[in-house]
Amino acid sequence: MAQHFLLSAAARTLSLKAVFRMGEDAAYETFRRMRWPETEGEAVCPSCGCPDTYNITSRRRFKCVACYKQFSVTSGTIFASRKLSFTDLLAAIVIFVNGAKGVSALQVSRDLDVQYKTAFVLSHKLREAMALEAQGRVLDGVVEVDGAYFGGYVKPANRKTDRVDRRTLMAQSGKRQSVVVMRERDGDTLTFVGRSEAAGVALVAANVAPGTVVHADEASHWDKLHARYETFRINHSEAYSANGACTNQAESFFSRLRRAEAGVHHRIAGEYLNAYAGEMAWREDNRRVANGSQAAMVARSAMVSPVSRKWAGYWQRTA
Ligand SMILES: [Zn+2]
Repeated sequence: MAQHFLLSAAARTLSLKAVFRMGEDAAYETFRRMRWPETEGEAVCPSCGCPDTYNITSRRRFKCVACYKQFSVTSGTIFASRKLSFTDLLAAIVIFVNGAKGVSALQVSRDLDVQYKTAFVLSHKLREAMALEAQGRVLDGVVEVDGAYFGGYVKPANRKTDRVDRRTLMAQSGKRQSVVVMRERDGDTLTFVGRSEAAGVALVAANVAPGTVVHADEASHWDKLHARYETFRINHSEAYSANGACTNQAESFFSRLRRAEAGVHHRIAGEYLNAYAGEMAWREDNRRVANGSQAAMVARSAMVSPVSRKWAGYWQRTA
């Protein structure tokens, strides 16, 4: 089993060196076992579910005995039409989970010596795999909610005499987006992106179970939460924690997202903000999980997820 260490519970840490040492055959075998865990890596037809297949070994493809359709280990997953070797794919996952503040596509392309656009699309597919784990999640217990704005930055004018209050300009820029986070204490996190933080109340109602104890800050739009949940408020102009009320875990999510913006991506606003927010929530939730296990989580999630509609053929459409 040593060569399939990514799948064993004992796999705590995983180095790039180990990935490249395992070689392409073992990496391929690892992906097969992640795709078909019930049959220990034996192919099952994705079209009709038939477990009997011809193995076209030379091309790493299979042909279904029942419906004659051909497929590969990545057919129908977000790695379909991949351009990378299985070793590179595993290495990319390790590089990606190792970046606590996220990893830029530029870094992935340099580390793996692949084209920037390949790294860009792959990084977004891995974010998608992370986001799949949060799908359909309903929070309960004790939940902290908070919101913050991203994007729409307006540069101050050069001369002091020309300067105005930029807060209004930023609000009017049309580029400012709000991220709302809901975070179970010592549990799971959900994130949403919208136009305003005030929309967060409806999101909480839709994603947090009745009977949950909610903590929020003093912003007045959260007042509506009291009608629905037992709600604690913390006034941040007075204290970060008082009478048992605090939103520190929600804020640690935002500080990770801000660090990713400042240190890695520089601009995370716009159409990808939702993906980055989901990624940082995943990193917060799994921050104490060993990197080998993190890699296995992302890879497995990617192998069971359907073809990415957004990213499949992305460059064919935009090129
Ligand atoms: Zn079939």
